[in-house]
Amino acid sequence: MKVNPFETAKRQVDIVCDIIGVNGGVREILKNPKRELTVNFPVRLDDGSYRVFQGYRVQYNMARGPTKGGIRYHPDVTLDEVRALAAWMTWKCAVVNLPYGGAKGGVICDPKHMSMSELERLTRRYASEISPLIGPEMDIPAPDVYTDSQTMAWIMDTYSMQKGYSVPGVITGKPIALGGSEGRGEATGRGCAYVIREAAPHAGLKVKGSAVAVQGFGNAGSVAAKILHDEQGAKIVAISDSKGGIYTAGGMDPHKVEEYKHKTGSVTGFPGAQPITNEELLASKCDILVPAALENVLTKRNADKVQAKMVAEAANGPTLPEADEILFEKKVTLLPDILANAGGVTVSYFEWAQDIQGFFWTLDEVNQRLERTMVRSYGDVHKEAQARKVHNRTAAYVVAIQKVVDAIQRRGIYP
Ligand code: GLU
Repeated sequence: MKVNPFETAKRQVDIVCDIIGVNGGVREILKNPKRELTVNFPVRLDDGSYRVFQGYRVQYNMARGPTKGGIRYHPDVTLDEVRALAAWMTWKCAVVNLPYGGAKGGVICDPKHMSMSELERLTRRYASEISPLIGPEMDIPAPDVYTDSQTMAWIMDTYSMQKGYSVPGVITGKPIALGGSEGRGEATGRGCAYVIREAAPHAGLKVKGSAVAVQGFGNAGSVAAKILHDEQGAKIVAISDSKGGIYTAGGMDPHKVEEYKHKTGSVTGFPGAQPITNEELLASKCDILVPAALENVLTKRNADKVQAKMVAEAANGPTLPEADEILFEKKVTLLPDILANAGGVTVSYFEWAQDIQGFFWTLDEVNQRLERTMVRSYGDVHKEAQARKVHNRTAAYVVAIQKVVDAIQRRGIYP
């Protein structure tokens, strides 16, 4: 049975509201998206025919500021998935203390089977459909699964054409030439690597020489693998993508795997590695497991097979609540998504701040500020986990939800 991620998201809120004693109307606010838009829009395909696509933009909570969150293109997008992802963005921005609420967008489509020009028309039309809801002071989208800096460039241009002037701050994850930030492309993976580094001593691990398995070799997973390998001396023993995985006990060079994937379209068949399935990767012999693909991969069926001592969630929502409990009992150190992958939105915030000021930073400045944010946020979560004797996910939610609740109460309920 397919798990509904929004049900998971609401359950997580309930668990934390029980702990910190949030009830009544405020709990209801936390469990409901503030604003959602569904759009059905036609796109002309290359063969001259038209097809109607469905897309969404959900603004979950804006108590702490303008809403922020990516846009996902995937055949399995649903409104409930977008709601869950928008809720997670709310907590993510709060846990790393960005002055934002949370949002998310999605379009049901199969980008792997669309041409560039079809994707451009789809993107521009979707951007135009959601344009009443977005803007630098209102809601600022960014990349997510199967969208990239080119997608962001089209959205920036479409929005700017409607306004009659350039509005770089309407979206982040743009190419540098359009007001993008240095370091944004690798920020999710880099932030994840910093959090792993900070948490390792508390988990009794040394990253240097540790065996790492990475599920998903896109923007988050490939960068995390490269940084853990190059900068922290980890051994990358397993890698997968949507087509399957590869394993070598001795470790592989993630740069070579990336080159290979670039040429062949997948990591599968990488010379010298043993083929494994995505399911086998999760249970593979490793010290650190990095789920960097989609939701709901660690379940009550497979969580007890995890051999890693640490699970760092570069993906959003990879672990179900039942699996959380199993991992906690097994004393696996869990680095929850809203912390472990918050590097992306953190540098998105830096990008937006640079755009608004029209004043740009060097890569070193970006990475230093990113590192400071991730180190401080991990420290906050770790402290909360120790104090309350809860796992890191619950601790991260406590830190985040407390801030959102404070903002809601300070602002008061209108009118
Ligand atoms: N899609 C990314 C996430 O899930 C980045 C969002 C953003 O930069 O606004 O965190």
